[in-house]
Amino acid sequence: MITVYRRIYYIRYPKEISEKPIIYHLIKEYDVEVNILRANILPQREGILIIELAGNKANINAGLEYLGKLGVSSERLATRIRRDDERCFQCGACTGVCPVGALYIRREDMAVMFDADKCTGCNQCVLICPVRAMEMSLGEEWLETSEVPTPTPLFS
Ligand code: SF4
Ligand code: SF4
Repeated sequence: MITVYRRIYYIRYPKEISEKPIIYHLIKEYDVEVNILRANILPQREGILIIELAGNKANINAGLEYLGKLGVSSERLATRIRRDDERCFQCGACTGVCPVGALYIRREDMAVMFDADKCTGCNQCVLICPVRAMEMSLGEEWLETSEVPTPTPLFS
């Protein structure tokens, strides 16, 4: 069975290339499946995308390297997910929705653990946590260019 590598990325690219078909190249040249979750692309302004990439890991890395050479920065959206341990009261609700086991219960002491390395940045835990202990930060740059007052959930 072939395992499909699937991750969500936060992409920023300079206004100089805001009208170039970079997603088309990613699909065509690198055989990467692209699912655009959020987009903020205005002509002659910096563009920001949240995209899910799926396919062969080496191809995805090669595609991201190609983007990097064009001046496009990419980072795993998972790096913007964090848990506020002060708020978390270990209810376990998030472990039921995490599709990749990044949130799980450690059987020995029943503690809810967060493995940031496995996280794809899907946002499901942010939506379900009753005390908003799971947080996703899209940063000031998103707010500045998206012209919306607050970030909205990815999968509302
Ligand atoms: S749902 Fe929220 S409070 Fe409950 S274990 Fe997960 S992060 Fe903690
Ligand atoms: S965002 Fe939350 S639910 Fe989604 S993969 Fe990461 S830890 Fe799991």
